[in-house]
Amino acid sequence: MAYSYEAPVSQTLFDRASLVTPGGVNSPVRAFRAVGGTPRFMVSGTGPYLTDADGREYVDLVCSWGPMILGHAHPDVIAAVQDAVARGTSFGTPGEGEVALAEEIVARIEPVEQVRLVSSGTEATMSAIRLARGFTGRAKVVKFAGCYHGHVDALLASAGSGVATFGLPDTPGVTGAQAGDTIVLPYNDLEAVRAAFAAQPGEIACVITEASPGNMGVVPPLDGFNAGLKEICAANGALYISDEVMTGFRTSRAGWYGIDGVRPDLMTFGKVMGGGFPAAAFGGRADVMAHLAPAGPVYQAGTLSGNPVATAAGLAQLRLLDDAAYAKVDAVSAELRSLVGEAFTKEGVAHTVSAASNMFSVFFTDEPVRNYEDAKKQEAFRFTAFFHSMLEQGVYLPPSAFESWFVSTAHDARALERIAAALPAAARAASEATA
Ligand code: PLP
Repeated sequence: MAYSYEAPVSQTLFDRASLVTPGGVNSPVRAFRAVGGTPRFMVSGTGPYLTDADGREYVDLVCSWGPMILGHAHPDVIAAVQDAVARGTSFGTPGEGEVALAEEIVARIEPVEQVRLVSSGTEATMSAIRLARGFTGRAKVVKFAGCYHGHVDALLASAGSGVATFGLPDTPGVTGAQAGDTIVLPYNDLEAVRAAFAAQPGEIACVITEASPGNMGVVPPLDGFNAGLKEICAANGALYISDEVMTGFRTSRAGWYGIDGVRPDLMTFGKVMGGGFPAAAFGGRADVMAHLAPAGPVYQAGTLSGNPVATAAGLAQLRLLDDAAYAKVDAVSAELRSLVGEAFTKEGVAHTVSAASNMFSVFFTDEPVRNYEDAKKQEAFRFTAFFHSMLEQGVYLPPSAFESWFVSTAHDARALERIAAALPAAARAASEATA
C-alpha cells in the first residue's frame, strides 16, 4: 500500500533506532508492522493530543495503551511527579507513597485485602501465577486463547494447531517445560474449562483470564462466564485470577470487578494505576498473599517496586478518578462509538463496534465475536486502509485491528469533532480496501 503522506523526521529516527534496537522499537506493536508505514516518534502530549517529531498533531486514541485516562500531562499529575522527583527518585527502602497507593487500591477494590506493588503488568501476572502455584502446590495454569497477560514465558503459550488443549511454546526461547504446564482453552467456553479440570483432577493451580479481554480486540465475557470460572475454580481447589491490568481503574472506579462483581482470589493491575509511570500490582485474598516473602515462602522482589515517583503519579491520577471522571470517559466512548458505527454503516462496511464499558474496538465483520477464532475471521485488511486514512487526517489509532481503543477525560468536543471530520474518508477507504 502506498502512503500519500510522509514523516521524514520520524523516518530518520526510526532508521537510527533500527541500527541500535531490534526492529527499531522497545515493544513490538509500536513498529507498525501490522499496518505498514513509518511509526510516529512522539515528542510531546497535551490533553487528548500527541505531537510527533515532524510537528504534526494527532488526536490520541491509544492513550499509551490505557494509562493516560486523564489525557497527557494532566497538571495535577505533573505537579505530584515534580514534587516527588524533587525529593529524590529512588531509595530502596519503604516509603509512605507506596502505602498510600496500596491503601487506595484496597479501598477501591473489595476483593483486594492485600496488595504487592511491582513495575509492570508482566511482573504482576508472573508473580500472581507463582503465588498461585506456591499456595496450591500445583503446577498447571489455565489461560484463554487471545488473552494477553504480558510476556511471561508460561503465558505466551497459545494452542498450537492440532493440539487443542495443551500449550505449545509459540515463541522461540520459551521451552516446552515452561509452556508444558499451560493449558490454553477457547475464551467464553465454560464447558472446555470443566473438561480440563475433569481431565486433570488436583493438578490445576489457577485459571487466569483478562477480566474483560482487550487484547484480541475487545471481546467481553458472556453473561455468567466469569462467575462460572470462579465457581469451577472454587469447586476444584484452584485460584481464580482476574487480570485487570487493562480494565483496572479504567472500566469503572473498581475496574471490571466494579461491573460484574465476581470476586477473584487474586487480581493483577497496571497501566492506569501508574499514571504513565512503570507501576503495577497484584493482590487479593489475605490468606493467599500471606504466602509471599517476607511473610511467607514464595519469593518475589523488585529494586524499583513502589518507586516514589511512580507511586506519586499513580496516586495523583487515581485521586482524580471520581465518579464524574468515569461518567465523562464513558460518555466520550459512547459518542465515539456511535460516530464510528455511523461512518461504517454509511459506507456499507460490515462491522461490529464491540465495547466493554468505555473500552472498545471495531471488528470488520457483522458476525458475533466471542473468542479469538471469531476475531481472526474479520477482514483485518480493511483496518489497514482505515488506520492510514485516520493517521493522515491527524487521528492516532492503535496500529492493529486486534487492540482496544482508549479515550480519556480530556477528549473534549474539539477532539471529537476532529475525529468526526476524519471518519467519512477513512470509512470510505475501508470500504474500497482489497485483501
Ligand atoms: N495483562 C494485560 C491484560 C495487558 O493488557 C498487559 C499489557 O498490555 C499486560 C498484562 C502486561 O503489562 P505490561 O505491558 O505492563 O508488562
